[in-house]
Amino acid sequence: MGMQNDTQLNATGNNKQLQRLSVAGVYEALGTSDQGLSLEEVQKRLNEHGKNILREEKGQPLIVKLLANFTHLMAILLWAGGVVGFIAKMPELGIAIWLVNVINGLFSFFQEFRAEKATAALKQLLPTYARVVRDGEEKRIPAEDLVPGDIILLCEGDRISADARLVQDSDLRVDQSTLTGESHPVHKARNEIYRDDLTRAEFSNMVFAGTNVAAGTGMAVIYATGMNTEFGKIAGLTQSLKNEESPLQKEMRRITKVVSAMAVSIGIVFFIAAVALAGTDLAESFIFAMGMIVAFVPEGLLPTVTLSLAMGVQRMAKRGALIKRLSAVETLGCTTVICTDKTGTLTQNQMTVSDVWMPRRGYQVTGTGYAAEGSIVAEGSKDASVDADLASLLTGAGLCNNARLIPPNGESPRWTVLGDPTEAALLVLAQKGGIDPAEQASLAPHIRELPFDSSRKRMCTIHQPQGASFDNGTIVYVKGAPKEVLDLCASYVKDGKELEMDEALRDSAMRANDRYAHKGLRVLAVARRRLTKGSALPSSLSAYTAELVEKELTFLGLVAMADPPRPEVAEAVVKCHHAGIRIIMITGDYGLTALSIAHRIGIIKTDGARVINGVELEKMSEQELKEALSGEVVFARVAPEQKLQVVSVLQSMGHVVAVTGDGVNDSPALKKADIGVAMGMTGTDVAKEAADMILTDDNFASIVNAVEEGRTVYNNIRKFIVYIFNSNVPEALPFILYLFSRGAIPLPLTIMQVLSIDLGTDMVPAIALGADLPEKGIMDNPPRSQKAPLLNGSVMKRAFLWYGLIEAVIGMIGFALLYHLHGQFHLPLQGTGEIYRMATTMTLAAIVFSQIGVVFACRTTRLPAVHRGMFNNKIILVGIAVEISLLSILMYFPPLHELFNTAPLELREWAILAVIPFVVLLLDETRKALQRSRRNIRACGEKL
Ligand code: ATP
Repeated sequence: MGMQNDTQLNATGNNKQLQRLSVAGVYEALGTSDQGLSLEEVQKRLNEHGKNILREEKGQPLIVKLLANFTHLMAILLWAGGVVGFIAKMPELGIAIWLVNVINGLFSFFQEFRAEKATAALKQLLPTYARVVRDGEEKRIPAEDLVPGDIILLCEGDRISADARLVQDSDLRVDQSTLTGESHPVHKARNEIYRDDLTRAEFSNMVFAGTNVAAGTGMAVIYATGMNTEFGKIAGLTQSLKNEESPLQKEMRRITKVVSAMAVSIGIVFFIAAVALAGTDLAESFIFAMGMIVAFVPEGLLPTVTLSLAMGVQRMAKRGALIKRLSAVETLGCTTVICTDKTGTLTQNQMTVSDVWMPRRGYQVTGTGYAAEGSIVAEGSKDASVDADLASLLTGAGLCNNARLIPPNGESPRWTVLGDPTEAALLVLAQKGGIDPAEQASLAPHIRELPFDSSRKRMCTIHQPQGASFDNGTIVYVKGAPKEVLDLCASYVKDGKELEMDEALRDSAMRANDRYAHKGLRVLAVARRRLTKGSALPSSLSAYTAELVEKELTFLGLVAMADPPRPEVAEAVVKCHHAGIRIIMITGDYGLTALSIAHRIGIIKTDGARVINGVELEKMSEQELKEALSGEVVFARVAPEQKLQVVSVLQSMGHVVAVTGDGVNDSPALKKADIGVAMGMTGTDVAKEAADMILTDDNFASIVNAVEEGRTVYNNIRKFIVYIFNSNVPEALPFILYLFSRGAIPLPLTIMQVLSIDLGTDMVPAIALGADLPEKGIMDNPPRSQKAPLLNGSVMKRAFLWYGLIEAVIGMIGFALLYHLHGQFHLPLQGTGEIYRMATTMTLAAIVFSQIGVVFACRTTRLPAVHRGMFNNKIILVGIAVEISLLSILMYFPPLHELFNTAPLELREWAILAVIPFVVLLLDETRKALQRSRRNIRACGEKL
C-alpha cells in the first residue's frame, strides 16, 4: 500500500494494510461498525478531514481576465488612436478615445463575469448524493459530507464518491474507466487480498471515488475522501480540460473577425479618401479612419452572445431543465425529434393497482394512491375476499420488492414512496388484501436478490423461511413483464394446487394482459419457485445467475396498474407538433400499453401506427428502420441499449435528436444523441453524467420548454445583431456625403458622436434584445437547420438595407432640417459655429430616436410589434431612458459641447424627434404586413 493511503489511515488511527483485513478488521481499523458512525463522530471527523470535495483548480485570476479585455487587437488600436490624438495636439480627443476603450473593456468584462456566474451557479444545482448508514439508519446525504469511516451503500448506476473498502457485495461490477481508462467493468468483492503485485485500482475489494457502479450492489467503508482519494490525485488533469466553445460562440468569433477586417479596410479607404478628396490633414484623417473602424467593429458581440446563452440556461433551470454545456442551448433550438421514454416522463409514475388476474378469476382493486385504503373484490362479487391463491400472489408481490411506503409526515401530507413506484403499488396491493409484507419478510427472510434490469425485464428474490434449509423449502419469487415471466413458467396455481402450464393458460393470461394493456395499464406477472433437493442449485449463493434461478417457475397471476399521463404533457405534445418536432416513444413497457398511452396524449394520431418491439428491432436492417421511422411508430419492450440504434438511424436521416434516459444502459444513447436528457429524480448518476441536460422534475413538458428557450436564445441573438449592425449605415453615410461633397456638406456626425452611439446609447437596448422573452409563435415554425448560418442574407438585408437605410435617411433629414429651420439651408453649408453644432446634434439625436423605433421593431420577425406588448421587456425601457439621458447630457452639459460638437436643441426640434420612433415603426409595420400577405398568398398557392 502506498504512502498516501497510509497517511489517510494514520489519520483514522490505524496504519494496517486495508486490503488484507477481514471485514471485522476493516471496521476496527477505521473506527466504525456495520451500524455506521454516530453523528457526533461524523462531525468530529468532518472537522479533522474536511469536506469530501476536490479542490477546484483555480481558473485565471480575475485581473488577468480583466486585462484581456484591454489587450486584444481592437483595444490596442484604440490605445494607439488615443496616442495619435495627443500627438496631433487634440488631447481631449485622445482622452475620449481612451475613455471609450475603458468603458468598452469594462462592459465586456462585466458581461463575461455575469455569464460565468450564471453557469457556476448551475453547478451548485447539481449536487451528488450518497446513501450511507449512520447511527444504524440508512440516509441519503450530500456526497461532500462523507467522512472516513462512513458506511456507503452502492447500487447500479451510482457514482462512488470516496475511496472505500468493501464489506458486502452482490454481483458488484464497477466501471473504473475514469481512473484506469479501461472501459470494461471490473468485478469487485469483499474478500481479503494478500498479493503485493497489484496496483491500487486492481484491488478487487476496494472501490474508488469518481468511478461508477455498473451492476450489482454493495456496502463499503470509506477510508479516503476529497483530495486524498485516488481520483483527487489525478483531479488536476481532468479539471484542466478547457470549457469548449459552442458553435454559436465560434461563429461569433469568426463574424467578429470578418467584420473587423472589413472595418479596417473601410477605415483605410476613408483615410485615403479624406486626405485625397477632402484634403483633411493626416492626423485628423487618421482619427477619422479610426472612428470608422471603431464604429464598425462589433466588439461587444461575443460577450453579449455568451451572456445571452448563459441567461437562457438560467431561464431553463427555472423551468425544470438544467443544462450542462452552453452549446446545448443552441442544439436544443434545432431539435427535430424527441425520443422519450414513458414511465415517469410522459406519465406520473404514480402507480395504483386496479386489477388482478389469476387463473381462476379476476379481481378489481379499489382505492387510489399509496395509502392502503381499499379492497380487492372478485369479479362478479361485491365483497372483498382473499383466498389462498390470491394470498400467495400477494405474498410474492410484497416480498419481491425493495420499495418502502412512507406515512404522511411534515414534508408530505400523503403517503409517499421510497424506491420504485411500481413496487410500492404492489406493497399497497398486498396490504389491501390483508398481507403484511414486513411480517412475511420476517417469516421468510430475504437472503439474496437478482436485481431488476431493463433488459431482462424482471427481478427475483430468494427467501429462506424459518426452519427451511437452503435446498429444501427456500422460495424464489419472480416478478416482471408478463411475457418474460410466463415463458419461464412450468406450472401454475389454481385452487391451491400446482398444475402443469399449458398453452391454453398462457393464451388466456396473455389475452388478459392485452385487455389491460389496451386500457393503458402496466401489467406485471408474479411467479414463484420452491427449491428442493433436486433443484441442483450450486451451494454457494454468489454463484447464482438469472439462468439458474429463474426457471421452472410457478405462475401466480397478473397485476395491472394504472399510471395516468402527466396532465401537462398533452399540451406539450401539441406544441411540439406545431413546432415541427416529432416525438417517438421508446419504452420498456408492453406494446399495447405504450400505444394506448401514446394515443391518449396525442403522440400517435392515426390507427395505423406501427409498434416495433425489441426483438423485431434487433433484426431490422438500417434501411428497414429508416422506412419505419418515416411513419408513425412506437418502440415497446426494448432494452435501453437499443435506443442507441434508433438514435443513430435518426441522425443518419439528418435529424437532430434529443433522447431521454435514466439507467446505466441508457448512457451510450445519451452520449450519442445531440441532446442527452437524464432524469433528475429517478435517473442514475451515470445517466446524469452522460447527459447534456437534466430534468429536475423528470417531466416531458420541461424538454419542450427547454426547446422553446433554445429557439428564443438564438432568435434574440439574431435580433440584437440586426440592431447592432444597422446603426453602421447612418454612421457611415455622413462621412460619405462629406467626402463626396468635398466639404460643401460639413461632416454631419463627428467621430465622437459615432462613438457615443456605439459605446453609449446602443449598449443597454442591445442587451435587452439579447435577453428578450420568447416571441409568440416561436413554436409555430419548423426547427431551423443546424447548418444555417446565423447571419444569412435576409438578416443582413434587414440590418443594412432596411433599418440602416431608414436611420441614415432620417439622420440626414434631421441634419438638413435644422439648417432649414434656422434659415441657413444653402450650399455650402456652414461648417462651424452654433448652427453646425446644433445640426450635428440633430443628426445624432435623430439616429438615437430611430434606434428607439428599431428596438421595438426588432422584437418581432413577422408579427406586428404591438403583438409582443410594448412594455413587457423592462430592460428595453431602461435602455430608452438611458439613451435619452445620455443624449440630454451631451446637449445640456456645456463642458462636453466642445468634445462632442454638441449644442442644446430647441423644443420644436425635440417635438420632431419624438415623432421619429413612430415613423420607423410605421414603415416597418407596413413591410411586415406586406411580407405576411405575400406569405399567405404563397401558402394559398401551395394549397391549391
Ligand atoms: P420506460 O422505458 O418508458 O420508462 P418502463 O419503466 O416500463 O418504461 P422498464 O423500466 O425497462 O421500462 O421496464 C420494462 C418492463 O419490466 C415493464 O414493463 C414491467 O413489466 C417490468 N418491470 C418494471 N419495473 C419492474 C420491477 N421493479 N420489477 C419487476 N419488473 C418490472
